Amino acid sequence: MAYNVAPLAKLIEHFERIPGIGRKTAQRMAYYVLNLPKAQAEQFSQAILDAHEKIHPCKVCQNLTDGELCQICANPSRDHSLICVVEDPRDVVAFERTRDYGGTYHVLHGVISPMDGVGPEQLRIKELLGRIGTQEVKEVIMATNPTVEGEATAMYISRLLKPLGVRVTRLAYGIPVGGSLEYADEVTLSRALEGRSEL
Ligand SMILES: [Zn+2]
Repeated sequence: MAYNVAPLAKLIEHFERIPGIGRKTAQRMAYYVLNLPKAQAEQFSQAILDAHEKIHPCKVCQNLTDGELCQICANPSRDHSLICVVEDPRDVVAFERTRDYGGTYHVLHGVISPMDGVGPEQLRIKELLGRIGTQEVKEVIMATNPTVEGEATAMYISRLLKPLGVRVTRLAYGIPVGGSLEYADEVTLSRALEGRSEL
């Protein structure tokens, strides 16, 4: 009976689009939502709309924020002459978990990947170059993932930065090749940061 109910089918379809969610889980989520009290269902849908409306990239580092600047860029006790370049906002969360890093970030929102049609112009690279021009930057740490695309992106950006007289370093990798920063444990990530070397 259930699969004939159009609104339920639609709900399942939406959940199924979430990466890592299969049909069964999508069904379970849809039934959960369906059984929510009306007030909670409203809060849930409002949370989705709020996230869409209020969250945007930080003016400086491109990390996600609901303010003009993210909390890290707005914090005067962070070292603003140090920029850690990452692929994804989730990588910022991973580094912040280590509590070892006191600098700022720059979020590229992807990596150069010709196979997927992603070129440098689709990433937030010009915003990074803009920061080098407007603030004192001593070091840029390339912290893209140790994948083919991550390495190529790190090399590409480092070639743009070096003529500007900035020290460019790369994370040391205890992180396995092909691995993801997001899933690296705090100790591994702290060591990778500590052991970074000149690019
Ligand atoms: Zn920021």
